[in-house]
Amino acid sequence: MMPQRPPQRPIYLDNNSTTPIDRRVLDAMWPYFTEHFGNPASVSHQYGWEAEAAVQQGREILAGAIGCSPEDIIFTSGATEANNLAIKGVAEAYLNKGRHLVTIQTEHSAVLDPCHYLQSLGFEVTVLPVQADGLIDLKQLAQSLRPDTILVSVMAANNEIGVLQPLAEIGALCHAHQVLFHTDAAQAIGKIPLNVEEMHIDLMSLTAHKIYGPKGIGALYVRRRNPRVQLAPQLHGGGHERGLRSGTLYTPQIVGFAKAVEVALSERESEAQRLTELRDRLWKSLSQIPEIYLNGHPTQRLPGNLNFSVAGVDGQALLLGLQPVVAVSSGSACTSAKMTPSHVLTALGRSPALAYASIRCGIGRFNTVAEIDRVVAATIATIQSLRSAHPIHHS
Ligand SMILES: *Cc1c(COP(=O)(O)O)cnc(C)c1O
Repeated sequence: MMPQRPPQRPIYLDNNSTTPIDRRVLDAMWPYFTEHFGNPASVSHQYGWEAEAAVQQGREILAGAIGCSPEDIIFTSGATEANNLAIKGVAEAYLNKGRHLVTIQTEHSAVLDPCHYLQSLGFEVTVLPVQADGLIDLKQLAQSLRPDTILVSVMAANNEIGVLQPLAEIGALCHAHQVLFHTDAAQAIGKIPLNVEEMHIDLMSLTAHKIYGPKGIGALYVRRRNPRVQLAPQLHGGGHERGLRSGTLYTPQIVGFAKAVEVALSERESEAQRLTELRDRLWKSLSQIPEIYLNGHPTQRLPGNLNFSVAGVDGQALLLGLQPVVAVSSGSACTSAKMTPSHVLTALGRSPALAYASIRCGIGRFNTVAEIDRVVAATIATIQSLRSAHPIHHS
């Protein structure tokens, strides 16, 4: 039997995609829409000073979270813009040093697509494969570096499979070769320890909406010393953010971003433990299902992330069966009429069928044990019903 549609909305288990705003974050933002609405760039009156003070405080909180100084933080509209600024900005600024970049197959499209764009302009990009568990091969990375390599971009935590890359080792390697190291830490900030000095990170992309902050705000950390990173701005205008990103700063979003980071950091260790327990509880039950496979490294991953593939079921039917009970995403992107398997799962060596029949569970701050147990029951029931309705013989 297919599970019946419950009276309430589906359980939200797609926290790697986005998260609701935490009440504490919203409360912090509120006055900056109405009372303290000034332009932080207005230097001639109190309205501007109030907004500027809030922006400065936000900068300090973010800087404290990643171990840099406040001046190293450039606010952007999110991680997509931060990645574009980092990758295209470095490529343009270091044209005379070289035109070679290195990244990995499992990056977010907000890294891969700027790299493809640079290829169309004549840059060379090495896109390294990953191992079956999703981790980078450091030896392969070392071999890929050349005298004309200007940037290595490797994400901190993968958005589909949660796999955590060894940032400190990658950073040390890059610095030994005098190559800049950029990391997309959209999924990592507030969830795992990050330190740009210890990890030798030169550029880091951040976003607020994956950690219970507002959408439409993010930041790029840009190293100013040892070495000083040169960056060509991608938005020209009033010269805000050290000339690297023009546009009036969005004070309420910055305040919310900072509050979200503050809350996440203050609860990080206890929350990581709670999410890991929920994740392990989910997998302990689901792994009893015959021919179900975990995608990505079993432990070197984000606390709340579980990604699995199910053999012998149709991916679309699996997602449809789960939809009334739980909001999750699958390892396929439906672009118009065409289905494409996840580039992350195929990079792990998964067949297209197993990549289609995959489910990403992103457990978050507001999920409970009872919800996880309902998700287990629904998943088991859905898979059993699909397998008995259409027995597929697979090898
Ligand atoms: C969500 C996400 C992005 C995009 O961030 P936006 O702030 O939505 O632009 C980029 N990279 C990774 C790894 C992400 O998870």
